[in-house]
Amino acid sequence: MRLSSSERPGSHHLPRLTPAAPLGRLGTMEEREFFNETTESRNHTITCPKCGQAGEYKVTWIVRRKRAQLPRNADERDRARFAKAQSYMVRRDDKLACANVRCRKPFEITQLQSIAFLTD
Ligand SMILES: [Zn+2]
Repeated sequence: MRLSSSERPGSHHLPRLTPAAPLGRLGTMEEREFFNETTESRNHTITCPKCGQAGEYKVTWIVRRKRAQLPRNADERDRARFAKAQSYMVRRDDKLACANVRCRKPFEITQLQSIAFLTD
């Protein structure tokens, strides 16, 4: 079986999304009815733009995992949207404080995307 470069097994690359809602506004259901929402912190290696030192930082994400099935009041358009829906997460933190004791400056997180699909 041939896999495209975006489907390589073991690849932890997260494809980029536009900041707009990944799903349209068709159908009767709110997007949040398709997902279970949790807040998770994940470790990321980020380089401080002020001092150039890389460090491990905890970043908070709002994680929306696709539900196993739709509620009963879903109509046909909702079912079509749900079929295309994919788990994703939205970054909640915008800023970090540098962990380097000689720097300690606040900086904006520009090295991580603000929305990412979940591949697991
Ligand atoms: Zn720094």
